[in-house]
Amino acid sequence: MAVTSTIIELKNYIGGEWRQAMGDDVNVVINPANQEVIARAPRATKEETEEAILVAKTAFESGIWSNMTTYERAAYLNKIADKIEENLDELAMLEVMDNGKIKTEAEFDIADAAGCFRYYAGLIMAPEGETYQVPEDVQAMVVKEPVGVAGLIVPWNFPMLMSVWKIAPALAAGNTIVYKPAESTPITAMKLVEIIEEVGVPKGVMNLVMGKGSVVGQTIAESKDVDLVSFTGSTEVGREIMKAAAGNLKKISLELGGKSPNIIFADADFETAVDYALMGIYYGTGQVCSAGSRILVEEGIYDKFIERFVERAKQIKAGPGLDESSQMGAINSEAQLNTILKYIEIGKQEGAKLACGGHRLTENGLDKGFFIAPTVFVNVTSDMRIVQEEIFGPVVTIQSFKDEEEAIKLANDTDFGLAGGVFSGDGAKAMRVIKKVRAGITWVNSFGTTYNEAPWGGYKQSGIGRSLGTYGLDDFQEIKQININLDVQPAGWFPN
Ligand code: NAD
Repeated sequence: MAVTSTIIELKNYIGGEWRQAMGDDVNVVINPANQEVIARAPRATKEETEEAILVAKTAFESGIWSNMTTYERAAYLNKIADKIEENLDELAMLEVMDNGKIKTEAEFDIADAAGCFRYYAGLIMAPEGETYQVPEDVQAMVVKEPVGVAGLIVPWNFPMLMSVWKIAPALAAGNTIVYKPAESTPITAMKLVEIIEEVGVPKGVMNLVMGKGSVVGQTIAESKDVDLVSFTGSTEVGREIMKAAAGNLKKISLELGGKSPNIIFADADFETAVDYALMGIYYGTGQVCSAGSRILVEEGIYDKFIERFVERAKQIKAGPGLDESSQMGAINSEAQLNTILKYIEIGKQEGAKLACGGHRLTENGLDKGFFIAPTVFVNVTSDMRIVQEEIFGPVVTIQSFKDEEEAIKLANDTDFGLAGGVFSGDGAKAMRVIKKVRAGITWVNSFGTTYNEAPWGGYKQSGIGRSLGTYGLDDFQEIKQININLDVQPAGWFPN
């Protein structure tokens, strides 16, 4: 990766070659903590994207990757994990610079990314396949095969981790890849692909194409030569991907937005519930798909909960990610900052009461970047836009409920179904309630944790398919039935 003075010059990687953009269109990447220019990234054209797709198709058809033994592919994945770990500090710093998150969060993401490669390196070598008891003279079996060319489109909130959740299983399964990072966070994408090149993954298997969603992303989603598109991003763009993918009926995997409920009963361990509720919304500056952005609190402790939650929210120190004293990072872009501020205005107009925050932070040099105070809205109702729509920032609503039934009704009262949590000292009640929450990722007496071993994805308009775990590998594999006739003679269906 070339560093010219302090500006990093990023390149696309197609067919094993690092390339400048063909056209003059360049994406200037800034550090959201201070708006300094940190990188220049190519904006690939439709033609360049199509070329990368063709390269990936040729590489797939050559069998250079898919025909390797799983043992060989797993060895590459483990080497990638080693290199990620060796470069953890640098990768974390780069992630802080273009995403805006705090360093400890970035370090966690990078370590988890290495773990994800190791997990799929192990999983792909596990025994798999099935045999079936069909008529005596036939042996039926199932084998799993790579899908082909995988188009991977990722968002900016966890640039490295969201990419690796796709790249690791896609490579493990034997697919070839065309990978498009988000425009505001392309730096670790290039670093990761450099690592993949360095460990010797054959040319053409991994292709990186940076650029606009409407050009690069759209071309990937539409292409008849892409066999599968795995997308993480907003529900709105997910819908567009689904339409574009219809052309060749490519497989789709969609990890989309959320508006996740966090239900807190009066019998919960109070301080634990407050603590996880804070982490649930302010970790990642609220720019987290599974953020617990709707806190639902049982009537009896509603006022006490708000008082303690607001007290703690006010203590959270927002600041630049590289400043060790910062506890919450920047908003990723000016556009996202404006979206969040717009929602705060909408909340006020809708009649919700602002219990704290609700403004941009500008003191102590924060005016150079994009920072918003931890924000809490109370006295909200389910019909409000701030309760229904994904804000994707450090803004939470707190509602009260009177009993189990109402808690479940409020929890499920959105178009989303990504995540949800329940806090209660009564294990049976917690289990009853969590089973009724219509969401793909749920927690009891905690909130927000992820594990490479466990599936991640949403119900309803939060997506289709699952990342991580064995399900995350399934998304990148075709299932083939093989029937072997053990009694080789004519079928005799038509008289001879
Ligand atoms: P986004 O939908 O705006 O963009 C995501 C990616 O899609 C980017 O790379 C973008 O360039 C590309 N894109 C944009 N328009 C496109 C088009 N027409 N065709 C193809 N690609 C296109 O999302 P974002 O703002 O980058 O990320 C935030 C969103 O991601 C939030 O809604 C969040 O909830 C969601 N998210 C979901 C998960 C999950 O696991 N469910 C994880 C992280 C983020």
